[in-house]
Amino acid sequence: MIAGGRRIGKIEIHRVLEMVMPFDRRTFFPNNSDEDWAPHRSWLEPDALDPKLDALLFPMQSYIVRTAHHTVLIDSCVGNDKDRPKRPAWHHKTDDAFLRGLRSLGIGPADIDYVFCTHLHADHIGWNTRLENGRWVPTFPNARYIFSKQELDSWRDVGHKNFARTPLEDSVLPIVAAGRADLVANDFALDDQIRLESTPGHTPDHVAIALQSAGESAVMSGDLMHSPVQCLHPEWVPWPDWDAALASRTRRAFLERYCDTPTLVCTAHFPLPSAGRVVRAGGAFRDGFRFIYDDQPWS
Ligand SMILES: [Zn+2]
Repeated sequence: MIAGGRRIGKIEIHRVLEMVMPFDRRTFFPNNSDEDWAPHRSWLEPDALDPKLDALLFPMQSYIVRTAHHTVLIDSCVGNDKDRPKRPAWHHKTDDAFLRGLRSLGIGPADIDYVFCTHLHADHIGWNTRLENGRWVPTFPNARYIFSKQELDSWRDVGHKNFARTPLEDSVLPIVAAGRADLVANDFALDDQIRLESTPGHTPDHVAIALQSAGESAVMSGDLMHSPVQCLHPEWVPWPDWDAALASRTRRAFLERYCDTPTLVCTAHFPLPSAGRVVRAGGAFRDGFRFIYDDQPWS
C-alpha cells in the first residue's frame, strides 16, 4: 500500500492531479439562468463555484488503480506540448505536475500496465502521448491502452457537435499506430475486478469504469456529470454533452443505480476529493440526489 491511498477491498485507488481550472459558468451551462443557480450558490461556493470569477472550478485528474496484478491509469488529463489554442492553460503546456504526481506515488510511466479512457475529450487523453523529437509517442511504453471501438469510430468518421480532430490525432491515433491500443466493446472486462459500464451521451460511447473487490465497489464516472449541482438536477446539460437528451437520461440512470449504495463514485471534475456516495436528496428535491464527499484520507 502506498501511503494515503484509498482502499476498495483489495484494490488501491490514488489520484494524480494535474491542475484545477475555472470554466465560465454561463458558457458551460448555457441553458441555465442565474435564477436556476441562485438556490445552489451557498453550497457550491467556494470549492465548486468560485464566487469572484463566477466560474466552475474543475480539477483535471487521473485515477490510479492498483490491483494484485495490474497498475491501471484511468483517464490521462491534458498532457504537455499539445496544440489547444482555444484553451490557453492547455496550449503547449510544459509543466511536470502530472509526471511528478505519478512519481510521488512511486510509479513511473513504465510501471503502468493499462490506460483506460472514459471518453476521447482532450482533458482525458492528453498524457496518452508525449512529444519526442517532433513525434507523438506513448507516454506509458509498457501499457495497453483500452479505448471503446465505437467511441473511436464515431470520432474518426462522424463530424458531430464538439468534434475536435486535433486531440484524436495527437493523443489517440499515435497509440493505435504504435500497436498499443485495444479497441473494445463497452461491456469489456479486464478481469473480475475492473470492467466498463456503458454511459453514453456526453460522447457517443462514453464509459464508466467499475471496480469491485472483496465485497466493496467503486466507479469512475468520467464526464457523465461535471458539477455536483447535476446530482440535484440531472437534467442540466453542459455545452460539451454530445446528445443532451441521452446524456441526461444516462446521468439520472447512473445516479439511480448507485443511490443509497456503498459504492464510491469517483468523478473526474467535482471538487477534491471528487469521490463520494450518492444519496437521495429528499424534501424539495425528492427527484434528485446529493453527493456525500468521501471522508477517508487520499494521497
Ligand atoms: Zn472532462
